[in-house]
Amino acid sequence: MLIQDKILDIYKKHDALLEGHFLLSSGLHSDRFLQSALIMQYPHIAEKVVSELADQMYDVPFTTVVSPAVGGIRFGYEFGRLLKKRAIFTERVNEVMTFKRGFALEPGEKVVIAEDVVTTGKSTKECMDAVIAAGGDVVAITCLVDRSNGVAQFDVPFYPLLQIDVSVYEPGDCPLCKKGLEVVKPGSRNIK
Ligand SMILES: [Zn+2]
Repeated sequence: MLIQDKILDIYKKHDALLEGHFLLSSGLHSDRFLQSALIMQYPHIAEKVVSELADQMYDVPFTTVVSPAVGGIRFGYEFGRLLKKRAIFTERVNEVMTFKRGFALEPGEKVVIAEDVVTTGKSTKECMDAVIAAGGDVVAITCLVDRSNGVAQFDVPFYPLLQIDVSVYEPGDCPLCKKGLEVVKPGSRNIK
């Protein structure tokens, strides 16, 4: 079985990838729902999933993994653990991605950014800016899921574990609503 299919199976088994008609927290509707935290809640399964990426990126020279909080923290931790690297994270302070908690980088420290889901690439780029502002050097970006449909582009190598297309619709212009499909809120009990 292909690695992508194996990982997709794990996502589906844990309801981390749902297909149907969903109401997102943004108010928009979508045909798929992704929640990597549902994988990351089981450390032994997180290890299995992240080890695929750790294998792919074994030769990338870096010393530190940096993740944007909150979604990327567990992924970054597991990725750093498997490759025996330091794992730190950025947080928003007044909307700006910042290192807190005494986290710091050496000048020119080689960094891989680890994000759970890349939707537009915006928070990834903000995390890159924080690394550069702190004196670090971003050598690659990785994520569990790239759902940007090719929109997210970076000027360093990009290693997504999965690439999944997700269609998002305004509620007034949603083909799934027009088909009469009931819209469900992910996480609610009527989802199965
Ligand atoms: Zn709809």
